[in-house]
Amino acid sequence: MGWVEDRETLVEKLKSEGYIKSEAVEKAMLNVRRHEFIPEWQKVQAYRDVPLFIGHGQTISAPHMVAMMTENLDLEEDSKVLEIGAGSGYQAAIIAEIVTKGRIHSIERISELVDLAQWNLGRAGYKNVQVTYGEGSKGYEEESPYDRIIVTAGAPRIPSALFEQLKEGGKMLIPVGGRTYQELKLVRNKGNKMLVENLGGCMFVPLVGDDGW
Ligand code: SAH
Repeated sequence: MGWVEDRETLVEKLKSEGYIKSEAVEKAMLNVRRHEFIPEWQKVQAYRDVPLFIGHGQTISAPHMVAMMTENLDLEEDSKVLEIGAGSGYQAAIIAEIVTKGRIHSIERISELVDLAQWNLGRAGYKNVQVTYGEGSKGYEEESPYDRIIVTAGAPRIPSALFEQLKEGGKMLIPVGGRTYQELKLVRNKGNKMLVENLGGCMFVPLVGDDGW
């Protein structure tokens, strides 16, 4: 089978398992070529529902986690989005498929991965994604506030700067817990009060930094 068929099979599986719910996320996951975001030696695994190594001890999340997070982000085409942890750029690409009229800012603390994400996103043709080198537990004040924030690394707590940079009415997804196991939290800013909902267990690499590990 080819990449396209493999991707269609994966998307069907994620739909039947209930991770993909909306047409927007389905289309995004069908469009983004996950095999182009991962190292050559991992490519045969690209359309298995597993996390994969992307170098520097980091991973690209499993497709079901990307689907679940993207569904829960509840994106609009003109959303202004902040991602912490660009990694390969894959999650940012999925967001960019939906946020066609907004902007995505992704922060990454490993410079080689900034280059990797920029290269991958550039090749795929996304013009409204900016990858910036930096320490994301402090957010990215320059472009704040954001409609949506997605943290793709596990944090010991919800960094206060991230909540401060979330618009009123905005939503943030962040894995919070231990170094290897966390709970995915949906954080809402309702009248500048923090509302937190638990979406279930997950395993992310640690969010390293001032307000991280
Ligand atoms: N979203 C990525 C996967 C990210 S893995 C993708 O789709 O491929 C988590 C990433 O978070 C790693 O690249 C790691 O270097 C980065 N990271 C960890 N702590 C960070 C911090 N404080 N600021 C910015 N990036 C961070």
